[in-house]
Amino acid sequence: MNLADYIRDIPDFPKPGILFKDITPLLASPQAFGHAVDQMAAHYESHAIDAIAAAEARGFLIAAPLALRLNKPLVPLRKPGKLPYRTYSLKYDLEYGSAELQMHIDSVTPGARVLLVDDLLATGGTMAAGAQLIQQAGANIAGFGFLVELAFLNGRERLPQAAVYSLLTY
Ligand code: IMP
Repeated sequence: MNLADYIRDIPDFPKPGILFKDITPLLASPQAFGHAVDQMAAHYESHAIDAIAAAEARGFLIAAPLALRLNKPLVPLRKPGKLPYRTYSLKYDLEYGSAELQMHIDSVTPGARVLLVDDLLATGGTMAAGAQLIQQAGANIAGFGFLVELAFLNGRERLPQAAVYSLLTY
């Protein structure tokens, strides 16, 4: 199965000049979605991982089935005001403006090895912020896993803490 057949190009979204990689055809195919999660799980099966973290919203779509498949705790990284208990918080810059991610203070233990997962690696800003948040809690980054990597944006360079793995590279 070629997973690339299930990623759709949408020109000029969300802004003119941007070619958006749409993963919804993959999500709509249990065979393709299952195959993607299986491949990621096979890659990480032999890694020492204590938990899997992902940022909302599309990161959850990949991290949740992967966490179940690998039998690991799932750690949600959320936008401000969504998590009910005490949180660590991290502000980071976007191309236009800024954003913030939060994590429950008890969602990882110090020294834990946390795998960060997202649907897509673009500039790396989101995952760099996620990694900092995990490290703020005293945990370590075990790896960065993506369905799709836009290699021409050099996002990897912003993720020096651990190895980057992606199923599809453009
Ligand atoms: P980054 O922070 O620049 O690496 O952007 C990655 C985040 O933006 C991910 O959480 C993606 O869900 C989203 N994103 C950026 N570009 C695309 C795209 O072309 N398709 C799908 N999601 C994208």
